[in-house]
Amino acid sequence: KPPPHWSLLMVLSCQSVAESIAGILARRPVLEPVLKTFQPLLEARASLPAALAPLVREAGLRLPELQPEQAAEGRPLLFEAPLPGLGGLLRQAAESLLPLLMEQEAVAPYADRLRGFFLGGTAADSAPALTALAECVLRGDEMGWEKSAVGMGVPPEVLTFVFDFLLGPALRALADVSLEAGQEAPWDKEGVWKEGYCPVCGSFPSIGYLDRPVFEEKNAFLAGGGGKKRLHCSLCGTDWKFRRGACPACGEEGNGVMEVLRESGNAQGERLEWCTRCKTYCPGVDLRERDTVPDLDVLALGLVHLDMVAAEKKLRPLNPSFWNTF
Ligand SMILES: [Zn+2]
Ligand SMILES: [Zn+2]
Repeated sequence: KPPPHWSLLMVLSCQSVAESIAGILARRPVLEPVLKTFQPLLEARASLPAALAPLVREAGLRLPELQPEQAAEGRPLLFEAPLPGLGGLLRQAAESLLPLLMEQEAVAPYADRLRGFFLGGTAADSAPALTALAECVLRGDEMGWEKSAVGMGVPPEVLTFVFDFLLGPALRALADVSLEAGQEAPWDKEGVWKEGYCPVCGSFPSIGYLDRPVFEEKNAFLAGGGGKKRLHCSLCGTDWKFRRGACPACGEEGNGVMEVLRESGNAQGERLEWCTRCKTYCPGVDLRERDTVPDLDVLALGLVHLDMVAAEKKLRPLNPSFWNTF
């Protein structure tokens, strides 16, 4: 029997990666070479959190409790949190995804070095180094990150591309196991988290969305009108509430701060929201204008035509996506 907020959960995971890609290609066939190249990798990443969840449970891993004072200061849950067991999850993620990642043109020249670092020795041998790398990301330690990349002999941007694919699903598995199905997430309790970056891992969103009306399945009545804004984390896939009319990059809010840019014709709710103060933009989608809910990570990649319009307007992406980087 579905829990009471079933329809809200459905909003977050409706179409598969393959269905979402097919939907984008039906409207923008020009993206076929790129999307088809990444499809196996995107599908493998999407299925990884469920595969890692038993490991998370076995190891007794949980997200730390949310402390309201720390949240009010804008501290993400995993900032400086001890991360025992994360190294084991990352090793498992590397065993699944590294072969696919190494097929990518930009990654292939470093295949041996990456294999040695992520899969060399036993799982216990590699865990401390993998955990240390995760700590660099979660603490925003760019110097530590560069040092690790140099030590490995891999360009920092290639290591970022590879490691995000491993760390993202590991954090998603950790968050999924820690959250009670159908319950409001602790960071969504009224006014607790006000930032434009992720309450779990501190990364910026890849995309924002306005949610759909919520129906109570059992009694078929409207439980919420929809149109509330949420942001979707580019790394761990956490969604959190955010104020409409506020900029996730600089925090300014009020009339005229945020502007919306969209294609003429049937844009299916796809848009780009940009800040007139700091000139940063984030892709978005109004789910009330669509019949289906796509995989948000895939849709963020499918809005590259809006990225081009933004570049012409000299706007900066809030979260540069990996295929703009290569
Ligand atoms: Zn996150
Ligand atoms: Zn701004």
